[in-house]
Amino acid sequence: MVEGEFTLAIKRRLDALDLDIRVVILGESVRKDYLSVYGYPHNNAPFLNSANGVFIDGFIAPSYNTPSSVPLLFGLNLNGGKTNYANSVVRLANNAGFETYWISNQGTRNAAFDTRSSLFANQALHTEYIGSKTMEIRDDFDLFDYFDRALDDRVDKPKIIFLHMYGSHNDPCGRLHGFSNRYNLPYGDSFNCYLATIEKLDIFIKTLIDKMNTRQKSWALLYLSDHGLLHSGEKTSVKFKHTGTAKQSYEVPFFALDCNDKEHIIIKRQVSGLKFFDFFSVWIGYDTDASDPNYTMRDFPQSVNIKTPKGDYAKLYDDPALY
Ligand SMILES: [Zn+2]
Repeated sequence: MVEGEFTLAIKRRLDALDLDIRVVILGESVRKDYLSVYGYPHNNAPFLNSANGVFIDGFIAPSYNTPSSVPLLFGLNLNGGKTNYANSVVRLANNAGFETYWISNQGTRNAAFDTRSSLFANQALHTEYIGSKTMEIRDDFDLFDYFDRALDDRVDKPKIIFLHMYGSHNDPCGRLHGFSNRYNLPYGDSFNCYLATIEKLDIFIKTLIDKMNTRQKSWALLYLSDHGLLHSGEKTSVKFKHTGTAKQSYEVPFFALDCNDKEHIIIKRQVSGLKFFDFFSVWIGYDTDASDPNYTMRDFPQSVNIKTPKGDYAKLYDDPALY
């Protein structure tokens, strides 16, 4: 893929916060409606349930699988439907003067299953793929050591650390790596493992925050999932699949926490994932000549007529959570 040069004019916002560390977590296959903080009745996200920050309930991922969704999230989407990968969130961060790190549990630099997210990974000033050349999938908790190293890297600039998880990707039981699964709902092992991967995500986020607090760093953290999943199979043995035919293929968690937040806020409003670039630029404290400065986490325009690769989002069927 041809990238070209970063071409945007950028300007620091008056409301920009001086923070030591910003963390962006790119999650995997996490449906919003399976997190207790978004209303799932089983308490699988106890930390997030009361974490101070802004949780957007209505963020619609641009596609239903990783290779097609991540480029649309992290690239700049131009009017007319084209995406510019040179003007990505990572390049924006570099150009705004941040020391950037991309630490990935998805793929290796040359692996066959490497997705287009490696394009953005390689745009960071520091890139680490923790997966081995044998394509073994590692525990997301193995990202912690690399995160520690990025935190302790001696540079004078503020840092942005991107973490690309393996999250709740199929097969969810294979994502637990020994993490205990206390769920026993009557929908089968995969289903219960999926709930446990959400609980693991909750602990993952809490652990990152504890690491920053221990080091007395000021910080902000942004989480989003690349897409959702749909149920398939028998009701007693539910599986999850990548299909874009229902609303929940696209309904993902999107939230921002920071060390200065004093409230737990949930904003119920629909917004297209194609606006992620706009949210990101405001979040790091910059406006650009190609992004909309009105996408703050606390207030943003509602998106109407959201399109998906499988047609109008509003016309897709409903595949509600099981509990
Ligand atoms: Zn994915």
